[in-house]
Amino acid sequence: MELNDLYRDVILDHNRRPRNFGSLESADASVEGFNPLCGDRLTLRLKLSDDTISDIRFEGQGCAISTASASLMTEAVKGKRREEALALFERVHQLLTDDAAPEASGLGKLAALSGVREYPARVKCASLCWHTLASALKAADLKSVPAVSTE
Ligand code: ZN
Repeated sequence: MELNDLYRDVILDHNRRPRNFGSLESADASVEGFNPLCGDRLTLRLKLSDDTISDIRFEGQGCAISTASASLMTEAVKGKRREEALALFERVHQLLTDDAAPEASGLGKLAALSGVREYPARVKCASLCWHTLASALKAADLKSVPAVSTE
């Protein structure tokens, strides 16, 4: 099986059965994200215990890539500390935008997002949820994180 086929299968699987999809009661932060280029919308909710993301969920309407990316992201960052999740955001952002990015070693299933680099118009679909997460994690006040737009 070619690597690209493997990546496509991961994206399709996470679009069909998104993980951590739904609402989250008594979340510490709730952030809206919007990608006007494609029309992807999501709401990301998370709980922090000390500095660790103890739970995270998303809901909304988006294309297959935006849904799969959010599903993969929630799986990847749950249980991570704030700065670990932000470091992961930087790596994924590089993976999506930099042709010279180093191999996706250590990224696990998130490596599947590297396939999106071949479709520049879809990069914002994949990065929307990550920008939304970063906005929450960088916020001084979790209760009033401004909405994120990729434009
Ligand atoms: Zn999209």
